[in-house]
Amino acid sequence: MINVVLFGPPGAGKGTQAEFLKEKYQLVHISTGDVFRFNIKNATELGVLAKSFIDKGQLVPDEVTIDMLNAEVDKNSDAKGFIFDGFPRTEAQANALGELLVSKKTDVTAMVALEVEDEILVKRLLERGKTSGRADDADESVIRNRIKVYYAETAILKGYYEKQNKYYGIDGVGSIPEITERISTVLDTF
Ligand code: AMP
Repeated sequence: MINVVLFGPPGAGKGTQAEFLKEKYQLVHISTGDVFRFNIKNATELGVLAKSFIDKGQLVPDEVTIDMLNAEVDKNSDAKGFIFDGFPRTEAQANALGELLVSKKTDVTAMVALEVEDEILVKRLLERGKTSGRADDADESVIRNRIKVYYAETAILKGYYEKQNKYYGIDGVGSIPEITERISTVLDTF
C-alpha cells in the first residue's frame, strides 16, 4: 500500500493535485475538509458542529476529526492506498493516523508537502472564493486566520515526519501538470 499525506497550507493546491494523483496511482482520496462540507450541506449533527469552527477558520476538535477519518478509512477496506488531504493537522491526529494504519498492517509512506508563500496563498484563496461558495474563502481575515492556524498548529508536522525520514518538500508554484510531475517523481520511488 502507498499512503500519502498531502500536506501544505490552505490554498497550496492539495485538493487539485489529489484529483490527478488518485487516478494516476489508483488511490482513495480522503479530504477531511470535503467530508465536513458534505456534512454541512446535509445539515448532519457533525456538520452543524464543524461549521461553527470552519466558518471562523479554526480547526474542528481532534476527537471529532479523528473519529470521522477512521470511519472514512474503514469504508474503503479494499483500497490499494490512500491520499490524505488536509489530515493530519495536529500531532494528535498524526499519532492517530499512525496507529490506525499500523492496526491495518500498513503505515504512512510519505508526507508530500506543497510549499507556497503566504501572499500567493491569500491571492489564490480569494480568487477561489469567487466561485467555491465557501464562506471560509470569501473573507480575507478568515483566510489569514486559517494560514495563522496552519503555522501555529499544523506546521510542526513537518518535523514529525522529517524525524521518520518521510518528509518530501515540493515547490507548489507552477502549472498544475508541472506540480503533478514533481510529486510523481517522489511517489514513483515507492
Ligand atoms: P480544507 O478543505 O482542508 O481547507 O479544510 C477546511 C476547514 O475544515 C479547515 O479550515 C478546518 O476548519 C476544517 N478541517 C479540515 N480538516 C481538518 C482537520 N484535519 N482537523 C481539524 N479541522 C479540519
